[in-house]
Amino acid sequence: MTEKVKAAILYKPGEIRIEEVDKPRIRADEILIRVKAVGVCGSDVHYYKRGRIGPYMVESPLILGHECSGIVEEIGSEVRHLAVGERVAIEPGVPCRRCQFCKAGRYNLCRDVVFMATPPVNGAFTEYVATAADFVYRLPVDMTCAEGALIEPLAVGMHAARRGGVSAGSRVAALGSGTIGLMTIAAAEAHGATEIYAVDLAPNRLALAAKIGATETINAADADAVEAILELTHGEGVDIVFETAGAVETVKQTFDVVKRGGTVVWVGLPAQETVPLKVAHIIDEELTIQTVFRYANVYPDAIRLVASGRLDLKPLITHEFPLEQTGEALRFADEQKEMAVKVMVVL
Ligand SMILES: [Zn+2]
Ligand SMILES: [Zn+2]
Repeated sequence: MTEKVKAAILYKPGEIRIEEVDKPRIRADEILIRVKAVGVCGSDVHYYKRGRIGPYMVESPLILGHECSGIVEEIGSEVRHLAVGERVAIEPGVPCRRCQFCKAGRYNLCRDVVFMATPPVNGAFTEYVATAADFVYRLPVDMTCAEGALIEPLAVGMHAARRGGVSAGSRVAALGSGTIGLMTIAAAEAHGATEIYAVDLAPNRLALAAKIGATETINAADADAVEAILELTHGEGVDIVFETAGAVETVKQTFDVVKRGGTVVWVGLPAQETVPLKVAHIIDEELTIQTVFRYANVYPDAIRLVASGRLDLKPLITHEFPLEQTGEALRFADEQKEMAVKVMVVL
């Protein structure tokens, strides 16, 4: 008889049931992990509420959750780099490793990626997951599993900082200070940015932004963010601006706060498909536009960065729920956006 384990399963929008599923079995090149911490991501909340994101539809019961860490329970016969009992972070997207994008190192663009909690692939709101061993990374002894789960959103921030070309002395702005905005701020600081302007509407998120590396915070509810950034940079604008709010208004603002010849990095996903842009202005200023889709080749560096103590991500974890309350955790993350930054399911 197959051993059973608990999982939080999304049946339809708004309905998560805690049920028993078969304990996953591993292949020779896989690892079985006892899940310890799973962050609630905006995409999980979206699937929970609407049952779809763009073309990805939840058509059969699905386990959400992709920001995860845990303890190695069992290793496949071919696995050499990890041992039972070690704590690990799991990179949730496993690409094909054979296509031109994988070969070029840009495996986040692989068309055959298998990504946790993207229908029909199950995620990590469950007691055990099995995954490819080469996408599992050991956590140093002094890192917690909760911090391990935060490596996933940090990887997005690191990828954004790299795509934007942040370097020593850079002036940057982050339009939006939700989890991804905060991770981008932290990553920009780690990459050497010395002026970091954080914009948001929620005071608690701005307070966290200041804690994690922002040198100035601007509440867009009280001040014109564009004017404030221009004033802080003596009318020049920043070298690199990150759009992390996923709002049409902030997408447009990126061009108003970046300096001539600067770089705009779009990380957030606006709800509407098209956004009108001032093309002549973009050409005249010779701006560079970069985009960020997930990340690639970032996990080991992100883990070392956190382990070094240079980055303290723990204040981002604002709320914790047990696996049995995964539905509550998703609802809380959705309804308490002002209060909740990173909601974590802990096992
Ligand atoms: Zn995520
Ligand atoms: Zn590929």
